[in-house]
Amino acid sequence: MDSEHIEGDLVDILFSEKQIQDRLAELAVEIERDYQGKDILLVGVLRGAVMVMADLARHFGRHVEMDWMAISSYGSGTKSSGVVRILKDLDTDISGRDVLVVEDIIDTGLTLSWLVSNLSSRGPASVEICTLLRKPEAQRMAVEVKYVGFDIPNEFVVGYGLDYAERYRNLRSIGTLAPHVYS
Ligand code: IMP
Repeated sequence: MDSEHIEGDLVDILFSEKQIQDRLAELAVEIERDYQGKDILLVGVLRGAVMVMADLARHFGRHVEMDWMAISSYGSGTKSSGVVRILKDLDTDISGRDVLVVEDIIDTGLTLSWLVSNLSSRGPASVEICTLLRKPEAQRMAVEVKYVGFDIPNEFVVGYGLDYAERYRNLRSIGTLAPHVYS
């Protein structure tokens, strides 16, 4: 169970490193086109979005700024409740700024809805969302997600920033865990 070769714990690889990078490159082109003549402030949500932010930002051929927030969502077990506490706020004043929130995954969207309304109250010029992965329930959210990497089924996935008990974030691909990992 405590194997050093963590990729071996994946039962199914949903997205390879190349698929992820190719999709991020496409999203960067779309975003650059939509934000012509505007300064983009990318806001990453720690900790899961670190990989997406690092790679998305490097696909841009233009200047982008990056800032980070850490939030904790009170919930029972694995489900988020939408009740959120800021652990680390932005260092940037976002009034008048074009903010693009960068996320790894949206499940219920409760955390993100809270975040978007919090950021919107600070007077930005715009707030949009870019997520690498989106689960089915998120499509019922009130908040529109402008940039989606991949829509995935309602399965628990790890890798590329996504964790199970703080593990697997450093995998380059994204997959589902073998049952023996949970037991
Ligand atoms: P939401 O408020 O339900 O959208 O919660 C989203 C958060 O739940 C993400 O930022 C992840 O931290 C976590 N999460 C949801 N689904 C998964 C998954 O499949 N793997 C790992 N983390 C997940």
